[in-house]
Amino acid sequence: MQSLMPFPKKMPESIVVQPAAERTALVERAKAALRSLDAVLVAHYYVDGALQDLADATGGCVADSLEMARFGRDHPAQTLVVAGVRFMGETAKILSPEKRVLMPTLEATCSLDLGCPAEEFDAFCNQHPDRTVVVYANTSAAVKARADWVTTSSTGLDIVRHLHAQGEKILWAPDVHLGRYLQEQTGADMLLWNGSCIVHDEFKAVELELLRREHPRAKVLVHPESPAAVIAQADVVGSTTQLLQAAQRLEADEFIVATDNGILHKMRQTQPHKSFLEAPTAGVGATCKSCAHCPWMAMNSLGQLAATLETARQGDGSQEIRVDRDLAQRARRPIDRMLAFAAARKVAPSSFATLGAQGMGPA
Ligand code: SF4
Repeated sequence: MQSLMPFPKKMPESIVVQPAAERTALVERAKAALRSLDAVLVAHYYVDGALQDLADATGGCVADSLEMARFGRDHPAQTLVVAGVRFMGETAKILSPEKRVLMPTLEATCSLDLGCPAEEFDAFCNQHPDRTVVVYANTSAAVKARADWVTTSSTGLDIVRHLHAQGEKILWAPDVHLGRYLQEQTGADMLLWNGSCIVHDEFKAVELELLRREHPRAKVLVHPESPAAVIAQADVVGSTTQLLQAAQRLEADEFIVATDNGILHKMRQTQPHKSFLEAPTAGVGATCKSCAHCPWMAMNSLGQLAATLETARQGDGSQEIRVDRDLAQRARRPIDRMLAFAAARKVAPSSFATLGAQGMGPA
């Protein structure tokens, strides 16, 4: 059910080493442009650390997709600048239709979004009209508009558990690993779309076991988009925010982290005395070593950001996210349902103490 995925054609600027002076100059240009546009920067944990630092330094936010959506909606700025991938910009626009939403690049997409085309998904849903349609946030506005509920990895367990308790059968899309994890944890009747994240899907269980033997005291933190055999080795399974909080709360000195390595920037920044290792993505003997970093997240760069802001200041709207008004209204309903549910259950980034209750604790 997955379509072919066009990868970024050129080396993202954020993984090309830039001289410090050049980076500093870009930061200053971006800061000045943010000020003059009265804009706020909302960045995901997976983007370049320099963009995360800039968001923090300018009163923006660095967060997972749930908190990015809430922050953008509630912030008074009339221009939101979203450093992340396209569905995050779309969600910001859907929740704040009156605001201008800019992105450093509109080409940054997501394999989960690409792997779930709206027309095919609509046909799949039509074949199963008895099921409640629950989709992950990593989908297009058109797929969200077809759903009854949207979830993030922070809210997924609570929402699926709630629906299961109501006796509802679920149609889930697009991430098959996350869907299977939710199914196992809740016992819900779930029909799964067969999509995956090209980053998390690469984590290797056997190599992780070997790494754990080399680091027997390390705690293993795993995002639930990873394969089941990797999740099975986790001390904590959770969203990016929940993994970050686990790194802060747990007393271990060493952690093995199975999610996009962009998260290591915040982990090392907030816990400089602890050691963080990337979970292995290559099999033993592999000559091609993949890295745990999303190629689309990596397209967000300081240079692209500064250029986007400066051209927007001159009236250029080419980096602006636009979502058809009617589509946005239909996509908003299941997002609002999730946000209201999360607010009622107090699913907040600061709720690490409730992880056990959410089932996002030890796997
Ligand atoms: S890391 Fe995976 S889920 Fe996240 S944007 Fe990239 S491809 Fe999508």
